[in-house]
Formats: sequence, C-alpha cells, structure tokens
Amino acid sequence: MGLSEFDLIQNYFVEGAQRVNRQDLILGIGDDCAIVLPKTQHELAVTMDTLIAGVHFPKATDPYDIGYRCLAVNLSDLAAMGAEPAWFTLALTLPDTDDDWLREFSQGLFDLAEQYNVALIGGDTTRGSLTISIQAQGYVPQGEAMRRSGARSGDLIYITGWPGNSAGGLQLIQENADTDNQGELQFGFLRPQPRVLLGECLRGIATAAIDVSDGLLADLGHIAQASGLAARVEQLDIPLSKALVAAFGVPVALDLALTGGDDYEICFCAPADKSTSIREIARRLELPITCIGRMQDGAGVSLYDDRGELVPILKAKGYQHF
Ligand code: ADP
Ligand code: MG
Repeated sequence: MGLSEFDLIQNYFVEGAQRVNRQDLILGIGDDCAIVLPKTQHELAVTMDTLIAGVHFPKATDPYDIGYRCLAVNLSDLAAMGAEPAWFTLALTLPDTDDDWLREFSQGLFDLAEQYNVALIGGDTTRGSLTISIQAQGYVPQGEAMRRSGARSGDLIYITGWPGNSAGGLQLIQENADTDNQGELQFGFLRPQPRVLLGECLRGIATAAIDVSDGLLADLGHIAQASGLAARVEQLDIPLSKALVAAFGVPVALDLALTGGDDYEICFCAPADKSTSIREIARRLELPITCIGRMQDGAGVSLYDDRGELVPILKAKGYQHF
C-alpha cells in the first residue's frame, strides 16, 4: 500500500519491460509516447482486449494467471491474423496498490512477453475496479494477413488443440473454489496458449482464420458470414480431450467444445490440397490440428451427426456483453 504511481510503474513495469530487447523500439516507457521504427515491407496488425475481474475471470484468480492471460488473449488475436507480435501497451485499473499482487501479475505478464519477444512500450495506470486493457501490435508481410473473409467453397475447416477444455476448466474452478486448480482443464482457462507460431506458419496456406474466444460454432459463424458461405461441421470429428470427457462425459464435453468460450485455439480454412502441409505443420509444432468439416455454398453453420443428419444447434450464439 502507499506505492506512488511513479514507483509502481518503475518497480513493476519498467524493470519487467527490460526482459525484452527489440531493435525496432526507439523509445520505451517513460515519455509521453513510445517511439517505434517498424520494419519495411510489412503491415502492422493492431488489436485490443479488455479483461474485467468478475466478468472475464473469477475475482479470486491468481494475479500471475491474470497477467499471463491478459497478454495471451491479445497475442491470440495477432496469431489469428498470421502476425508476429512486436509491442504492447497496458492500461491497468487497480482498486489499490498491493505489492504482492503487482509482483505476481507482472511476472505472469512478462513470462509470456519474453517467450514471444513482445515488448511493453507504455500504458496508463488508474484507480478503480480491477480492469486490464492491452493493445498489441504485430507484423505481417504486406498483403499476407489471414482475414475472416477469405474462405472459399470446398475449403476444409480445421481447429487446433482441444476445444472446450477452457470452458470445462472454468466450470471446475467455479465449482471447486477451494482446490488448487492445477489440472489440465483449469490450465486451459488460466493459461491459454496463443498459437503465435501456428499463425505465422499458416500464412499462404489458410484462406481464413479466427481465434476461438466466443465458442467454436459462434466464431466459425463469423468466418462463414464474412466469406459469404456456409460451414458444415461433422460432430464426430470434433476433437475432445481425454480430460474433458473424463470430467464431464461425452455429451457435455461436446457441448463445451462447440459452444464454450475462451479456448483461444485457431479455427481456419484451407483448400483440400494443403492438407499435407497442414499435417507437416502440426507435427513440427507438436500441436493437434483436426479437420472438422468444410465450407460450402450457402449461409450459416450446420452440424451433422455420424448418420449425416442435421443436429439442432441450441446455444451457438457465444458470449455477448450486451
Ligand atoms: P502521461 O501523463 O504523460 O500520460 P503517465 O504518467 O501516465 O504519463 O505515464 C508515464 C509513463 O509511464 C508513460 O511513458 C506511460 O506510457 C508509462 N506507463 C504508465 N502506466 C503504465 C503501465 N501500466 N504499464 C506500462 N507503462 C505505463
Ligand atoms: Mg497517463
């Protein structure tokens, strides 16, 4: 308590920021603006996400996990465009200045920042209920960003990792507030792995991509709509982790995988003749990538069972704040 705003920034953010060194950062934290010198022949992808305590994560979440997660969700957006992370800014609203909280928060934040060599270059610090906004920027070679609108009829639809793990993990965290939350599913929620390397590998292969934050079917729906196509998903092909099935049984696991949010996996489309390259990428990154359906003429997302019959989709809307 009692830490001044200046000391807070100095102790927890200037020092942490020094863990990342970038040639393209001319002036970091400390002046009215940061100055960067972007490399040529590239576009900058720019994204922002806000996390509010009690809305985006339970209030009792460990500060380390909050720090990690608030950067991870932004890096995930960059990954979905095929961008290589470069810098980020942090707007931090805190109810008070708690040294232990700040130390752990900045550790989680900078452990991930260091992993992807993304530099904290500025921010703002205010008092209020706990809210964290991060804006992140990354490089894409000119014209190579993966948009939601690029899918073509006949493209196959893929999903990375184990969708539903995060939503299942959040449910376990909420149901067992007193346990230590070290399980695989809980980690899926607390420490989402931004698929940054995958995003870069998919440039020139994927025709469209999105990161799954609102639920697989809901986010695939955004690709379908932006591309002016329909998405046909095969229920039997949805990958379900052993942990998710063990904790919830197949029907609930399937529902979590299709409609649960916060996965931060990448859903993408690619022409069928790219399937060998995609298998190769999956092997190289040691990341499961599963084909779950195909894009076709029409509109909307439809789900089919193993007998080829349409499965009604109940809650494919995803989380909406308003
Ligand atoms: P100003 O009043 O000119 O906006 P501030 O006093 O808010 O400056 O911030 C001083 C410096 O510290 C600026 O370079 C700003 O970008 C940086 N800064 C403030 N808060 C944070 C934060 N939470 N994380 C990183 N940098 C921050
Ligand atoms: Mg300011």
